[in-house]
Amino acid sequence: MRKPLVAANWKMHGSRDFLELYLYSLQQKVPDEVEVVVFPPSVYLARAVECVVTSSIAIGAQDLSAQPEGAFTGDISAAMLADVGCSHVLVGHSERRAGHGETSAQVADKFVAALAAGLTPVLCVGESLAEREQGATLAVVGEQLRAVVDAAGLARVAGAIIAYEPVWAIGTGRTASPEQAQEVHRELRAMLGDSGAQTRILYGGSVNADNADALFAQPDIDGGLVGGASLNPDKFAAICGKAK
Ligand code: PEP
Repeated sequence: MRKPLVAANWKMHGSRDFLELYLYSLQQKVPDEVEVVVFPPSVYLARAVECVVTSSIAIGAQDLSAQPEGAFTGDISAAMLADVGCSHVLVGHSERRAGHGETSAQVADKFVAALAAGLTPVLCVGESLAEREQGATLAVVGEQLRAVVDAAGLARVAGAIIAYEPVWAIGTGRTASPEQAQEVHRELRAMLGDSGAQTRILYGGSVNADNADALFAQPDIDGGLVGGASLNPDKFAAICGKAK
């Protein structure tokens, strides 16, 4: 039985005051049956961990360096994230792949670095609109997944978390239909072989309290990675409630 998981990706939003009010409010509302992870901007991670210390909410980072330490100005290592109490980290979010030119090989290195520090990576994969229209969706997500499997091994990828996030659905208000999402989730699980039965595969892309029910009802969708709608703790808690 895969416990549902719902994650909040704040992207570059929030402030210290917002963080404290948000996490205080969310703690009162998250259902026990659902694992909840909040990914605030990195400068707030240490404070976020303090705020959730008496709750079941976990805190994760939105990115990490693949390097252990050294002359990498501005970067943050996996060990540093673990040191401040993070348990999860996003790797390969489409905004990192597109906006920062991250290749699948670099994403794989980050995934391996996260595991080495004891973090649970959330591997984001997804196709662009042009790729979907060309019928290349499964080839694209397959290549993104395979690069990480080649670097980390099947069992370790299957033990992590995968988020299918079609790029055309992120922040656009345009969600993949439950059937479109289910088809990709089923294929991703199949690519992981027998080990994939236990893997949590989240859907991300304009999830909100109105469309979450139908998405989470799909057999291979184990929860959501929520951007815009996660910035309001009431709306985010409502989405978490749909994953029960
Ligand atoms: C995301 O940032 O990963 C995301 C899915 O954003 P949104 O929910 O706003 O589409």
